[in-house]
Amino acid sequence: MTAIDRTKLKTLQQREESRFLADHPKSAALYNRAQSSLLGGVPMNWMKKWAGAFPVFVKSAKLAHITDVDNREYIDLCLGDTGAMTGHSPEIVADVVARRAKEGITLMLPTEDSLWVGEDLKRRFGLPYWQFTLTATDANRFAIRIAREITQRSKILVFHYCYHGTVDESFAALENGVIGPRRGNIGPPVNPAETTRVVEFNDLNVLEDALKHHDVACILAEPAMTNVGIILPEDGFWRAAQELARRYGSLLVADETHTICAGPGGCTAEWKLDPDMLVFGKAIGSGIPGATFGVSEEVAQRISARIHLDDCDVGGIGGTLAGNALSLAAMRATLEYILTPAAFEHMISLAKRFADAVGENIRAAGNVPRHHRGRHRRAHQSLRLSGRRTHLLGGTAILAVLFIRYDFPRYSLTSSCFCFWPLALLASVWQRYDCLTG
Ligand code: PMP
Repeated sequence: MTAIDRTKLKTLQQREESRFLADHPKSAALYNRAQSSLLGGVPMNWMKKWAGAFPVFVKSAKLAHITDVDNREYIDLCLGDTGAMTGHSPEIVADVVARRAKEGITLMLPTEDSLWVGEDLKRRFGLPYWQFTLTATDANRFAIRIAREITQRSKILVFHYCYHGTVDESFAALENGVIGPRRGNIGPPVNPAETTRVVEFNDLNVLEDALKHHDVACILAEPAMTNVGIILPEDGFWRAAQELARRYGSLLVADETHTICAGPGGCTAEWKLDPDMLVFGKAIGSGIPGATFGVSEEVAQRISARIHLDDCDVGGIGGTLAGNALSLAAMRATLEYILTPAAFEHMISLAKRFADAVGENIRAAGNVPRHHRGRHRRAHQSLRLSGRRTHLLGGTAILAVLFIRYDFPRYSLTSSCFCFWPLALLASVWQRYDCLTG
């Protein structure tokens, strides 16, 4: 195996860091100015996690391109961590949003767009009833509250090292088999061991053991885990997991926020899953804040039996701006014109091409160094190269289609490293290869 020369690596890194400083004088000046008004010099602290001494400040972004304040252009392989998976400001969504913005933005009243979106979501995912929030985090939180209320159970179950947004209950992880706060959990309201059961993905035995306590209101899960590399379900995992959930009276909430890239109806439609609730956010409005959760007929009936109109606005599910007219207009335009079945068909075929070619190149390169991290091992064990599982790479294809449809790279990706999410997808290709070879 080829060893990595750490000294050379350090020299290269220092060279790139100096170049970054020299190339971004205006961003540097703005960042310095921001120190006196923004905590840590950024609107949100995680914006400092980019490579380089400071984040680049953006002047504009269109489709797959970003221009910074120093007039440098980039291919954006991050796309707002899928919030802009449709490309930045697609023309039609931008027009619809501009029109809606002049006709009332937030009304606390429904618009016809909400019906269109609800009907479309019903067709895509099969669940009959829908509600709208501002973020996927909120949609997950509200789904959890509903699950607790209608099952009258206190706990939720998540898979080890999941991510579902800033949902308190989901910041639990296993440390030597014991549930506790996940590393970095900021000010947890209680030890998440009190609220949450955590099990390894793809392990039906431990899942059953956890459900047997009869205290799990719902399983909150991505159909394929996308926030810890890509961990795909083993054959038959979801069919068996759904059966277990039903047997022990727990609901299944499918968080399709990222896995929507598997097809117009996400993994739920692709893999014929049958969740009780489903969450979809981020890309749904091309970046205009908005998200949704859908519920089954049975859940809808149980909600109406327990949740009453008198108190519902102060009951922990809501948000003044939730379901606002602007979000719904953006969602409608996105679903009607951008995330269409035809676009997915094209994207999935590009994904397959991409995966095949990357796999070929890795194979041709022979002895490629690999890197395993303990908590990801199950991912490696669970991956295969075949069949429907490759569909998840649709996410990569979404990027590919953006590049191809909207003016393929004229500028190479820069050292500023706008590349988090697609690299995770790319990593899944590597992991697949890993499990074939190793
Ligand atoms: N679900 C999943 C699977 C996510 O990865 C994320 C965020 N990356 C969320 C939900 C939360 O989305 P948001 O931060 O927009 O609320």
